[in-house]
Amino acid sequence: MRKKIVAGNWKMNTLPAEGVELAKGVVAGRGEVCSCVNFIVCPPFTHLSMVAEALKGSDIELGAQNCAAEAKGAYTGEVAASMIAALGCKYVILGHSERRQYYGETSATLNKKMEQAYANNLTPIYCVGENLEEREAGKHFDVVKAQIEEVVYNLTEEQFKNLVIAYEPVWAIGTGKTATADQAQEIHAYIRKVLAEKFGAAAAECPILYGGSCKPANAAEIFAKEDVDGGLIGGAALKAADFLAIGKGFQK
Ligand code: PEP
Repeated sequence: MRKKIVAGNWKMNTLPAEGVELAKGVVAGRGEVCSCVNFIVCPPFTHLSMVAEALKGSDIELGAQNCAAEAKGAYTGEVAASMIAALGCKYVILGHSERRQYYGETSATLNKKMEQAYANNLTPIYCVGENLEEREAGKHFDVVKAQIEEVVYNLTEEQFKNLVIAYEPVWAIGTGKTATADQAQEIHAYIRKVLAEKFGAAAAECPILYGGSCKPANAAEIFAKEDVDGGLIGGAALKAADFLAIGKGFQK
């Protein structure tokens, strides 16, 4: 039985007090959603300790949106995996398309970040996905395969057991355009096949989340697909009611 996960990527949104209110709203409504759904919230670094406090006593887990590629030292402005772990994070989003696109994150950097995450007992939520040009050229399978081979294939079997993948077509992020449920299933099944080529039967246990304009109105249809194990949610994670309603999309 794979984990069902709904993770909120708040990106660079909310001031700390607003983030605390948002987290409290999620905690308050959590009971309306099946306890089989694992909720994760990923606020900005600056909010982590306050949000950790707001989540206390609930089963909602905390994640960060990034971590440094190095363990510690003279890296001005960076935040180490050990630091976010010390604040209560269990997860870290790595390889988000915005990090790849705006901050030039390459597979080489991501390999180092993955190592830091595992060294600090964090579960990476590793993002893959093609841009519009690649999709239109029919290259989406090759793109996600390379993103997996260049990073995930370097993990040990033990590390792989603690990995979440998020498939996020770049053309669907924040655009209001969603992949159809069939498009999501097609590529999630393909991702699982690529994972199985390296990790065998363990691939059947790896949660693969869909991300890209996922909202209450489309979550149920997407989550109903065999190889979709939940969502990584951007915009709709900024309203507690919408985030929780997405969790209600699980009907299997
Ligand atoms: C994201 O960036 O992880 C994301 C899925 O964003 P949105 O839901 O806003 O498309």
